[in-house]
Amino acid sequence: MKYAIALGSNLGDSRSILESALSRLEGVIARSSWYQTKAVTLPNSPSQPDYLNGCAILETDLEPLELLAKLQHIESEFGRIRQQKWDARTLDLDILLFEDGIFQTQMLNIPHPRMSDRAFVLVPLAEIAPDWQHPVLNRSILELARSIDASDVRKL
Ligand code: AMP
Repeated sequence: MKYAIALGSNLGDSRSILESALSRLEGVIARSSWYQTKAVTLPNSPSQPDYLNGCAILETDLEPLELLAKLQHIESEFGRIRQQKWDARTLDLDILLFEDGIFQTQMLNIPHPRMSDRAFVLVPLAEIAPDWQHPVLNRSILELARSIDASDVRKL
């Protein structure tokens, strides 16, 4: 089964954390460049360091909930070095897309409900999967990426 996942980090040595997280995943068939992006924060909350974001495509036999468990396990391994109380992330791993499927449970929603308004997801994903159709919006990732303001997303 083919999945698209998103990776992000804005705490610690983000690049090496993201590289190690990727190397822990089996079946990576494509990966994007890394992008430096502005943290999205709530109004009046303290500013956060920029994020490093990227996306990867996986080909794996894991079912959606099995892949989620695997990603959460990897997150928690890196989460142990989390130092700040506020919402900066050592490592955030999300499932974006699953074949051309829709998966809705309390624990897991695919497509990821917020992916279509996040330039830090769409821009890297468009680099490796421009023609993948979003199964709810029925538009390609490239179309979605082009329709969003990406001025805060800088390719490294
Ligand atoms: P966050 O703290 O933002 O990484 O959110 C993690 C929570 O979102 C977990 O409890 C997951 O069960 C849930 N979740 C729902 N849909 C997804 C998805 N597509 N990818 C990753 N986590 C998801």
